[in-house]
Amino acid sequence: MTKLSPPAPPTVGFISLGCPKNLVDSEVMMGLLDRAGARVTAHSEEAEILVVNTCSFIDTAKQESVDTILEMARHKTSGRAKKLIVAGCLVERYRDEIRKSIPEVDAVVGTGELEAILEAAGLAAPPAAAVSPFNILTGQSAATQAGLETRPGQESQAGTHKHTSRSEGDLREQQGRFRRDDWQGATHLLPTYLYDETTPRFLTTPKSSAYIKIAEGCDHPCSFCVIPNLRGKFRSRRFESVVAEAHQLVARGVREITLIGQDTTCYGEDLGLKDGLAQLLDALARIPDLRWLRFLYAYPNRVTAKLLDTIARHDNICKYLDLPLQHASPDVLKRMKRGAGAEIFLKTLDKVRAAVPGIALRTSFIVGFPGETAEDSAILEGFIKEAKFDWLGVFNYSDEEGSGAFSLDAKLPKRTIESRKRRLMKLQQSISKRAKQQWVGRELVLLAEGESEETPLLWEARTQFHAPEIDGKVYINDFGDLESLEPGRV
Ligand code: SF4
Repeated sequence: MTKLSPPAPPTVGFISLGCPKNLVDSEVMMGLLDRAGARVTAHSEEAEILVVNTCSFIDTAKQESVDTILEMARHKTSGRAKKLIVAGCLVERYRDEIRKSIPEVDAVVGTGELEAILEAAGLAAPPAAAVSPFNILTGQSAATQAGLETRPGQESQAGTHKHTSRSEGDLREQQGRFRRDDWQGATHLLPTYLYDETTPRFLTTPKSSAYIKIAEGCDHPCSFCVIPNLRGKFRSRRFESVVAEAHQLVARGVREITLIGQDTTCYGEDLGLKDGLAQLLDALARIPDLRWLRFLYAYPNRVTAKLLDTIARHDNICKYLDLPLQHASPDVLKRMKRGAGAEIFLKTLDKVRAAVPGIALRTSFIVGFPGETAEDSAILEGFIKEAKFDWLGVFNYSDEEGSGAFSLDAKLPKRTIESRKRRLMKLQQSISKRAKQQWVGRELVLLAEGESEETPLLWEARTQFHAPEIDGKVYINDFGDLESLEPGRV
């Protein structure tokens, strides 16, 4: 009798769109597929299964997602691909719609059901105990063992996967913040998923650098944003899980870790931790061989003295703060349901710069929010002149169904929005140019990333003041005393 050989493992190609948070979801899904026996390829034309992990934050992101799905669908008709899977935020929002309008799509996987990628790819999951993303620690509370500060009267939930929610989140839920009733096809329950250090991850970033998602979801009421409806209530990963993952990454050669979440500054509040992010940074900064540690997406009124002190105290915590402010006019910020304004923000920036001298500041703004007047725009312009950010992004307001702002009157014409954006970007360019001139003649520590994509005559690197992907890069044209460089060298 001839023995049948087992079927060859399927080859899976992944296209990850959107932000680093989505990229980590892709890495988790690739890790799960890899562990289940699939071969992950970077070449879509080689893949038998294609996965598009989508973004649906704003209009242009949705369009890019749909275009990519259609492009990948062509591989099914004329190429090797036999299966097309759509994952991510677009699925949370248009689950049924995608299947109905793009028949080439074989399966959909939402942000809250990452393990479903195995079934969608036709792979059996390893035994439940091995594949569970929730590793339950037993015995004494892990937060107590680690000597973490908890809030009085609130027992820490760290050490179990049972997350309590934040009171703000509960209140917002009662107010209907997370409702998706009007979204056609978004029938799935709000996501509650969180990966942990036992979940396999397939790193796609350069060898020396990696993201860690420390929390998921968001409880803030920002009226332009649908992320809470897509990603669910705010929930933190266990403290020890993040620390364990950071150790694993450093052992694999990672030298720079960037902590991400929709709002990293709320980290640990649902676990009962006081100053959770500061405590987490303090623990991670002690990992030998971790050269750079940073976090993105800080919420302005949550930048505490303790957090700043922690950044200042550790040499390996990058002197870098990403503080998306969204606007500076108090009227606009009030309608955005964020509050504060230029005056308060300037005080915050003074506090930050005094506590951490030389810190690089990044922010982003939305222009053209409904009802934004020429005067509001002038307030924002004046604020940018005074604040002198190192890095700044300006985004056009995108009218998102399901967001609070969608029902507001006084929407602005596209050309007004565009011209306000152009004006602000031009202003920042001159501020940036002047600021960069002060770098001439300075010696800086660089993390080498590899040969430039543009020419083999240059290498690319970053300083601690450049976050990966968003803040530009440094070109190296002379290795100085070094004979050669290798990626990851500091
Ligand atoms: S804090 Fe960020 S993710 Fe949360 S609602 Fe506001 S803009 Fe959206």
